[in-house]
Amino acid sequence: MIGMVVVSHSAKLAEGVCELARQVGQGRVRIAAAGGTADPENPIGTDAFQVLQAIESVYSEDGVLVLMDLGSAVLSAETALEMLGEEKSSRVELCGAPLVEGAVAAATLGGAGASLAEMALEARNALAGKLAGESACPTKSDACVCQAQVTLTNRLGLHARPAAQIVRLARRYRAQVTIDNVAASSINGVLSLRARQGHQLRICAQGAEAREAVAALVGFIESGCGEMAREEPVAQAGGIAASAGIAIGPLVKLRHAAAEIAARAIGNPEAERQRLMAAVHGAQEETRALYEWSKAHIGEDEAGIFDAQSLFLEDPELAGAVSRRLVEDRVGAESAWQAETAKLADRIGFRAADVADVAARVLRRLTGQAGAARVLREPAILSAHDLAPSEVKDFDPAMVLGLCLEAGSASAHSVILARAMGIPVVAGLGPGVSALADGTIVAVDGEQGTVWISPDAGQVAALEDRRREWLAARREAALERHRPAATRDGHRIRVFANISGVEEAAEAVACGAEGVGVLRTEFLFLGRAAAPGEEEQLAAYRAIAESLGGRPLTVRTLDIGGDKRLPYVEIGEEANPFLGWRGIRVMLSRRDLFRTQLRAILRAGAAQPVELLLPMIASLDELRETKALVGEAEAELEREGLPFRKNMRIGVMIEVPAAVAIADQLAREASFFSIGSNDLIQYVMAADRTNSRVAPLADPFEVAVLRMIRQTIEAGRAAGIDVALCGELAADPLATPLLLGLGLEEFSVSAPLIPGVKRAISLWSAAEAEGVAREALAMDSSQSVRRLLLLRRPSPEPRRQP
Ligand code: PEP
Ligand code: MG
Repeated sequence: MIGMVVVSHSAKLAEGVCELARQVGQGRVRIAAAGGTADPENPIGTDAFQVLQAIESVYSEDGVLVLMDLGSAVLSAETALEMLGEEKSSRVELCGAPLVEGAVAAATLGGAGASLAEMALEARNALAGKLAGESACPTKSDACVCQAQVTLTNRLGLHARPAAQIVRLARRYRAQVTIDNVAASSINGVLSLRARQGHQLRICAQGAEAREAVAALVGFIESGCGEMAREEPVAQAGGIAASAGIAIGPLVKLRHAAAEIAARAIGNPEAERQRLMAAVHGAQEETRALYEWSKAHIGEDEAGIFDAQSLFLEDPELAGAVSRRLVEDRVGAESAWQAETAKLADRIGFRAADVADVAARVLRRLTGQAGAARVLREPAILSAHDLAPSEVKDFDPAMVLGLCLEAGSASAHSVILARAMGIPVVAGLGPGVSALADGTIVAVDGEQGTVWISPDAGQVAALEDRRREWLAARREAALERHRPAATRDGHRIRVFANISGVEEAAEAVACGAEGVGVLRTEFLFLGRAAAPGEEEQLAAYRAIAESLGGRPLTVRTLDIGGDKRLPYVEIGEEANPFLGWRGIRVMLSRRDLFRTQLRAILRAGAAQPVELLLPMIASLDELRETKALVGEAEAELEREGLPFRKNMRIGVMIEVPAAVAIADQLAREASFFSIGSNDLIQYVMAADRTNSRVAPLADPFEVAVLRMIRQTIEAGRAAGIDVALCGELAADPLATPLLLGLGLEEFSVSAPLIPGVKRAISLWSAAEAEGVAREALAMDSSQSVRRLLLLRRPSPEPRRQP
């Protein structure tokens, strides 16, 4: 007796359809339901093992017809078939018919004694009557066999994008279609043809819409798979201008290193299969998101690669092979997945990298491992989702010409590092970057935040000119780095360094720093089990001050909290760490830590020009309380007869909007201000500096940010105290006239950027800069400010100081 299985995401729906079908099957068709999952917490879904059991429960040599509802139902049914074994599965027909109409039509015919093939055909045609009225019910003559021969004409042959389009096209028709004897509905099947330009493809179709299916596929292939007219168009993608400079070269995707998989025997293949399904599901969602983004931002053609990758993940052949391996070899899901996808990549040959890419996406979810492989054989522009500072640190700037980041922001630490290394970066490009094939020539303009995709010869020439100018300017700046910075009309500006350690102090001097604007003391406290004692801190601060050879050293007190934690300072869980216990707030309540650090800083200043800087000040009370503690420490040191700096200058970091609002009051009691624009931007714009989703909002050229900077500088000037800016904005040459024009007289930046900043300062007269600042402050969006600054950018010809 013929069997029939109804697969649905809902157990109730599957049972209901079976009930209907049993009514018309007259007891001559064995009908079983495979609905929902076995997981009571997530009952909606499908389960290949349930499908397998249902098939087995109604199986006979007469065969079984399987009807399925949505997406993964098909995947589960196909997996079940793989598990059923070759002999039995040859008698099972998976039928893409409409579930209710198909089940009823098939059961009716089965009840009347029809064969499996007849039932399947009837099921597939079941909707026609509904669509076109009773009289249009198709006749059997609609079920034709149709064939055609067609030559593949597009230059790249059947690579992933056209293969995906063929699969989608074939699945659109009520017909079973093969190309050169492989199922046109399987991406891996189509890719395994390895069909190149000139290849003759034989298309066969069977079913109600066989003719239409063949005609559509022939038309698509003859049209050059939609790639004939496409002469690699030049496109541009816009992102965040994160590190200035121009780079041109082949794109190389920074692939994640093969995850390390420990071989392990498993007891429960079903549990492993569930893990794998969850990982595949997650990767599928990620891939769909990549597709949607690319389609919206780059175009449907480029997005096609993600469509192909989605199909890999859906592929029943692959799912079946992995499931079999789980059962037969009793290995973990990671090993089974890795082995089968490697086999697949091998079989597919060319474009195997795309399989590896999507396979790695699943593997990363299974292993929780990440980590990029960075093997470059020739200079290239790297693309990556985001990078850890540790990864950037290992780059060789001679090989990594530029970076295109899907995520990231201009103030991410990895980007700060790339900037210091002179690597142009465009960040926040979105997932479309991964849509570009390795080897695609791209140009990165890190000043404007533009990436040119396949630029033509004219554009390459123009961009190369700009790259040469940029490199020449860098060389020139390096030669001039020890000259004191001044505007073109001789107005002196201090250029200091931001450092985090003893070695960086020497580097700062070598790069032309006139002093240290911020010593981030976190370096002494991080990565250890207990806080450094007074003597250890003293030795470090003293060593740094000494290596500055008499130049001023501004020591910032410990700034933990936010994204920085220490095992010996219990912060606890905070819903908003950046709005929580951070910087001066921690130190004022951990008097033990604060007292030790203040004493060490005061003592380090005994014979060197050392100043104190306080992070995260939001109220006058915090400044006053700290000054009182400094007074106590001074009194102690006095009593102990230890040498220390008396009347040490105490400065305030302006990085919280509250501090800007009371800048006039703070200026009366502080010796100097240092604007921490990295934090100020995030707090003014309410955009977490570590969250790449809001990175575009955290734009230093937002008018709100510029007004805050102006207000701070004006308050400092009115009170006659120095104002510095030590956030990343200080290092951006585009911002130089704006900051100069607002009256900033001290820039503090990472050491390697000092020559560039000095040079940028030398290109402007005070009056010109004031004009630019005035214009910029009259704008009403960050884009207009950026456009204005780009427009006003001086010619690259350096104008030397008189
Ligand atoms: C800033 O916030 O701009 C700053 C210089 O401090 P940090 O980046 O260390 O928070
Ligand atoms: Mg800060």
